[in-house]
Amino acid sequence: MAITIYNTFTRSLEAFEPFNPPKVGMYVCGPTVYDYTHVGHARTYVAFDVVKRFLAYKGFNVVYVQNITDVDDKIINRALKEGVEWRTIAEKYTRDYMEMLDKLHIEVDFHPKATLHVKEMVDFISKLVEAGFAYESNGSVYFDVDKFLNYGGLSKKVKGEEWSQEEAFLQEKRRPYDFALWKRAKPGEPYWESPWGFGRPGWHIECSVMSSYYLGATIDIHGGGADLIFPHHENEIAQSEARYGIRPWVKYWLHAGYLMIRGEKMSKSLGNIVSLKEVFDNYRPGALRLMLSLTHYRSTIDFSFDLLERYEKVYERVRRCVELLTRLASNSSPSFKVKDEELEVSRRLDDSLSGFLSSLETDFNGAKAAKHFHDIVSLSYNRIIESDNAELAVKALRVLRNVNNILAFLDDVLGARSLQGELVDKLVRIIVDLREVHRSRREYEIADKIREQLESIGVKLMDSRRGTTWIYC
Ligand code: AMP
Ligand code: ZN
Repeated sequence: MAITIYNTFTRSLEAFEPFNPPKVGMYVCGPTVYDYTHVGHARTYVAFDVVKRFLAYKGFNVVYVQNITDVDDKIINRALKEGVEWRTIAEKYTRDYMEMLDKLHIEVDFHPKATLHVKEMVDFISKLVEAGFAYESNGSVYFDVDKFLNYGGLSKKVKGEEWSQEEAFLQEKRRPYDFALWKRAKPGEPYWESPWGFGRPGWHIECSVMSSYYLGATIDIHGGGADLIFPHHENEIAQSEARYGIRPWVKYWLHAGYLMIRGEKMSKSLGNIVSLKEVFDNYRPGALRLMLSLTHYRSTIDFSFDLLERYEKVYERVRRCVELLTRLASNSSPSFKVKDEELEVSRRLDDSLSGFLSSLETDFNGAKAAKHFHDIVSLSYNRIIESDNAELAVKALRVLRNVNNILAFLDDVLGARSLQGELVDKLVRIIVDLREVHRSRREYEIADKIREQLESIGVKLMDSRRGTTWIYC
């Protein structure tokens, strides 16, 4: 089945046909780094990581870019409040952001920082000025919205409806809805050189510039949280389409639904954030990934610790299931006779996997995929682990590995390990075999010592009639 995607621009489901298949260029708006990464951010980042993984699973070559806004009013204000350099704030929270992405297994190909692309931004703005889409006023540069006739296409807003008026700049702007591309430096603020004097880039321009720097003039998928539809993404379209004279600049606009807490959107500016740092003190990142991905990416999530607790249980149930299946599967030996009952379970596993995949094919519907995911786990417990069926355990593990390639909530237990992981496996196998030699010579003291030492580094051996297996704890 073909993939369909809900495009915010057309407000409809569309067949997914990237500009140059199998290449897919995907840009997602990342954080402004002035506070800790929170669960609301994770909602959007995990949603797009699943999109990327699913498209890669379907054979597309995805390049995923997510920017870091490391110069902005909010960063400067936080630095003033704390009495430190603005760079200190940006660096501290960039570090936190990268660490949290790592814990969440989010794989971004390029993480451009705004401050490293100021030259390209100045160049881009100059081109807009030359083409008459932007004007300089008192050392700042504004986009002349009236010159861009398609303004409002994404947000469906009509000019004058509810523009942010940026009071301080109003006198400099021709129209209240014109927005800043370049801001004149105020005393004590960071600044860069430009044809208009010292200043710094506006927020919207960085995404137009960095997306084309890494992905080319057009982009297949542009994403972010739904809060960015207006004005951020509307302004990005105006800048890029004006600069390159192409339409559409972005083929599919995707927006993740809000993660809410006590009825409000979780956000740094509202002061209601739950940082990932504190979440991971008590909960496993895989549990949070499940909570965020087994729901439709466009839906709203009402966050609570009770909800996370429920997913911690789901996570533990699945993790344990994989552990038991792995133990069972390692005892598998070829069988030449398949029972009808085994065939039935095997077919049901296949059906659940295709149900899981086809749910994602229609606008990445994680909520629908969840049912099939749970079916796979239940089948594994009730029909495979319960009856000690080693061959079916191999099959169930393969199915779960496919699921985990997309949901990425478990790391190495599924055998989807890196080369280094495989090497570790081989080394453990050598040690286990040597231990077996000692055991066969009744040198139990040495055998126990080996077991203890392996356990102290997180490799737990399990002896059974059929031999020794192990898990990584
Ligand atoms: P920010 O640092 O606030 O600019 O946000 C970085 C990214 O996270 C953007 O794509 C936002 O749309 C997204 N985001 C922030 N808060 C939430 C939330 N509560 N729910 C969903 N997405 C969010
Ligand atoms: Zn952006």
